[in-house]
Amino acid sequence: MSKSRTLPYVDYMNLHNEVTGSGNILIVNFPNKVTRKILIDYGMFQEKQYEDLNQISNETNLEDIDYVFVTHNHLDHVGKLPLLTKNGYSGKVYCTEITKKAIHISLMNTVKIISNNKNEKPIYSKQDVNALISRLTVINYNETLKLDEYVSVTLLSNSHLGGACMVFLSISYDGMQDRNYLFTGDYKHTNRFYKVPKIPGWVFNKKINAIITESTYGYQKSFEIKRNFRDDLEKLLLDDTINTIFIASISQERPLSIFRELYLLQKNNILDEDVEIFYDSPLGIKYYEDIYTKYADFVIPKNLIFLNKKTHDELVLDIQEKPYKKRIVIAASGMLDHGRARDFLKLFIEDSSKAFFITCFTPEGTLANEILNNQSSTIKIDGIIYNICAKFFSTSQFSQHDFSDDLIRFFKKFLFVDNIFINHGSNYAKQCLFEEIKKDEHFKNINVEIMSRDKFIRINSKNEIKIFNSKFNKNSNTNLKRKKQKREKIYSLSKIYR
Ligand SMILES: [Zn+2]
Repeated sequence: MSKSRTLPYVDYMNLHNEVTGSGNILIVNFPNKVTRKILIDYGMFQEKQYEDLNQISNETNLEDIDYVFVTHNHLDHVGKLPLLTKNGYSGKVYCTEITKKAIHISLMNTVKIISNNKNEKPIYSKQDVNALISRLTVINYNETLKLDEYVSVTLLSNSHLGGACMVFLSISYDGMQDRNYLFTGDYKHTNRFYKVPKIPGWVFNKKINAIITESTYGYQKSFEIKRNFRDDLEKLLLDDTINTIFIASISQERPLSIFRELYLLQKNNILDEDVEIFYDSPLGIKYYEDIYTKYADFVIPKNLIFLNKKTHDELVLDIQEKPYKKRIVIAASGMLDHGRARDFLKLFIEDSSKAFFITCFTPEGTLANEILNNQSSTIKIDGIIYNICAKFFSTSQFSQHDFSDDLIRFFKKFLFVDNIFINHGSNYAKQCLFEEIKKDEHFKNINVEIMSRDKFIRINSKNEIKIFNSKFNKNSNTNLKRKKQKREKIYSLSKIYR
């Protein structure tokens, strides 16, 4: 038997197709019949065309999983985690300290929302969420934890969000150089509000078998981003025909960027300090109180007023009764799909004295995306047709993701990389990032693959890549097709191993 046959092989697959519903599974099969099944993130789908997948409660034999790691607390990365405990997972779920606290807030909010949805049976209950929360276990950044004789993990800093991390997995086996896999999660290299420890130098010197990277903004370069928020807001503030300005914001962290912009507008005497700024997001206020005041470093504008249920109703009345008054209202959700931002939209979309500012990434199928790309003067929301009279603005400047040039700069820091697998982006974004990497001389010996839910990658014992249809691929049921697929793509990485 050749030596390579005595080494493990690894199967890697995605549970998601495009941006949301993040889920990564790595299955390591050792020659001694031991296996390790590792799950990284388990999130909800937010794109309309994949929403049905949220109803699948056991898509990968969750009870078989050995280890679970969470990169950060965004719903598309954590929203389905309670299904683990519901389906018999009894291990730990590893994350950072801030993520642990933030998951508690977000999942308690999510279970409330899904329990109130009369059209669908909730996929999990408050008990399932409590069981999951009891499994959350903190690992400090840069501390390597040996989970057993085969698997070690290090959580590395990631500025995508307070508490976000990248997951660096090391697989050990007798007589084999460690095999290392880096999962970026959603990634950004800077964060204005949190101090994160630097990634230690040894990480860049390791041989990395695969970087599994996100690609949300893979279609854009950092210098292409228009920083238009302050300028557009200034125009709206000077425009006498506009009174209330609604800023739609995701609940987490984005408000800190908006607060800072408003603070600077006040400082530059563009925004009058007498103009009231309402923060109308119960979930956002919870993050503010429990997370930001403890861990983040930020500024707030003068005259910032936090609303509760009663004061929200009073604000709605005030806007209706005193329409001439200038005000700024910050509300969630950022994609206008639910929450008070959606309520305000339905109340005031037909009012030409109102403006709405969209400040987050809007995947296809979300209401914000529909409005921003709408060619007609009307839009249907919850079965009612509205005339679009309010003004709409948007910006990508607050993106918490790296752009393609940032990502490429980041990958270049790693000295020995075999493969880059691209996931977590629209099909277009994944393709753009793929092409950007392929045309860069630096990556000429590196194998690059675009991932989706339809396929999985096997890195065999000789460290070759083979691609198969996954069980989620509609055409994957015949052995014949598998064999054909097998023949289609085999890349030898032997030259990299010299
Ligand atoms: Zn995220």
